[in-house]
Amino acid sequence: MTDKTRVQSETPRVVRVTPDMKALARFVLEQAGREAITDDVRLAAAYILGHEGVEPAAESEWDPGRALKDGVRHEFGERGGVNMSIEASTTFTVIESETMPKIFQGERGVKEGCYLYSRHFNPTNFHFGQRLAAMEDMKIAYPTASGMSAIGCTVRQNLEMGDEVIASGTVYGGTHALFENILPREGIGVTFVNPNNTKDFERAITLKTKIIYVETEANPTMVIADLRALAQMANAHSIALVVDNTFTPLSFTPAHMEADNLVVLYSTTKFINGMSDAVGGAICCSEEFLTKLMDLRTGRLMLDGPVMDPKNAFQLNLYLNTLPIRIMEHSRRALMYAQRMEEMGLRVYYPGLSSHPQHELATSMMNPRYGYGGMLSADFGSAEMAMKFADKLQELNGAFHAVSFGYCHTLVSVSATSTSSEVAPEDQRAMGLTPGLARLSIGFTGGLESEWKKIEEAINCVRKG
Ligand code: PLP
Repeated sequence: MTDKTRVQSETPRVVRVTPDMKALARFVLEQAGREAITDDVRLAAAYILGHEGVEPAAESEWDPGRALKDGVRHEFGERGGVNMSIEASTTFTVIESETMPKIFQGERGVKEGCYLYSRHFNPTNFHFGQRLAAMEDMKIAYPTASGMSAIGCTVRQNLEMGDEVIASGTVYGGTHALFENILPREGIGVTFVNPNNTKDFERAITLKTKIIYVETEANPTMVIADLRALAQMANAHSIALVVDNTFTPLSFTPAHMEADNLVVLYSTTKFINGMSDAVGGAICCSEEFLTKLMDLRTGRLMLDGPVMDPKNAFQLNLYLNTLPIRIMEHSRRALMYAQRMEEMGLRVYYPGLSSHPQHELATSMMNPRYGYGGMLSADFGSAEMAMKFADKLQELNGAFHAVSFGYCHTLVSVSATSTSSEVAPEDQRAMGLTPGLARLSIGFTGGLESEWKKIEEAINCVRKG
């Protein structure tokens, strides 16, 4: 834990909006034309309706957005450009011939400004990784070609034949398939447990367990992993805790949950990118672990070679600058829409709702400024109805019916038959993933109210049959 973490207040600063406050705020807005309603009052009412859970952090509190800006020296372009230059070279010169063997022996490296070959370290990728590490309050981070390669390299670097991994049963379908179908063929044992019950992880630990693997927010059930409890468990058994934070960048900082041996993973394809224009991933970890991953003889990153194109790292580095305001707006809209969908009688899964079973847990872990994230699910009762909703919303130009998430526009998909179809139906049922669950990645384009009207109309249309 860093000093920055220590000053974080115990009680998160989250605005609690009661139904009475909301009713009053709506009334005030309806009366907005009347003289007695001053702009200040109107703004206060709009704030109550729109900003629950997204209160600005006090300067003294940890703010990952601030760390993203101030945590790393700004990299200027070669000729003083405000943006850094892209280092598109695959290979690098040494000035003195004796440096080359020293690099191969690990005596010289990026810390000394020595680059060798871009499958190893690349300066543009390295700088992007440094900013991501600052945002995550981790020692170091390095990008990869995809989220899946970040996951594959991390687990394989940590595991040998005969070792075991305990994973949440609700992990992303591709991760689930890797763990279920491929790792066992490499002699690695995998136990899936229900993340609703943290104690199940403890019960599954054996002497061979090397990794506990979870997603901060499970897909698509929005179950929040109790990262503090899992960190304690992992520490007690000297196990690594690997957390995929792809759903919830900025909102949650796994590094503050006090795991001794932590790796935080990203598919940068999603919110980190935000424009859905490039696949990528990242591994945030200790310097020691990254050295292992990049070892010229045994490193999984070095030898499997899932390199991010430096042009992508450059672009992601630019996109990172807008991540804080993007996440605030994703979260603000997701919370409002989740509340309204719930008021319409739907079963809605969103950690910002007080009806969410882990609302208190999520609130105790989150960085309040960034809200509860942009992802929500709603149960439409059957696969057919959920599909109908997705199609209608697309027809109304309220969303694209597409997998993936974190895009500027809203995306909708029906998880049981798409991104979670790798999970067997009985396992889906066990984890609360019903066939009628539609997952929404709430975008921030268009008017907040006009986009809501489309969602409302699509819901009403499904209901009418
Ligand atoms: N982790 C999560 C939570 C995901 O949803 C995904 C993909 O959807 C991945 C990892 C894999 O990332 P990528 O598609 O970038 O390989």
